[in-house]
Amino acid sequence: MHRHHVDVYLLLKVFLKSIAREAAYLGDNHRDFLVGCAILAYNGHEYGIFWGANFMPFTKPGPKICAEINALRNTRRAGFQEIIAIVVAGLPQKDEVTGKTPRTLPPCVDCRSNLSGWKGVSPDTMIYTVHRFEEVEEERTFAHLLEEYALS
Ligand SMILES: [Zn+2]
Repeated sequence: MHRHHVDVYLLLKVFLKSIAREAAYLGDNHRDFLVGCAILAYNGHEYGIFWGANFMPFTKPGPKICAEINALRNTRRAGFQEIIAIVVAGLPQKDEVTGKTPRTLPPCVDCRSNLSGWKGVSPDTMIYTVHRFEEVEEERTFAHLLEEYALS
């Protein structure tokens, strides 16, 4: 990733964290499992910040849409192609595939798969996950996230 992208990300990190946390309040989930996401992206000329919250309807089975995907759609809609960082604010829960119990909420198995094919998300994209209320955070590149949650 371009050095300047990293500098901008580091400069805006705390801001991105608050946006992700605020976005969580706009989530819609029947068991109050609220997740917020903030994305730092680049369109070739300027940087942009986009957000999304999770959506899970009362009626089951229904379409579940993760905060990450909503934020990525907003980013794409605005014409920002290059995804520099994805910041997720949530409460930790056990990963349904690996059984790992992280200290923050990493992108779920569906999101990990979607992100792998998402245009503009690169192995260098930063995945920064923060607890909604406590100062607990984890940060790694998307490549490292995939390694961390690999099945084998
Ligand atoms: Zn997800």
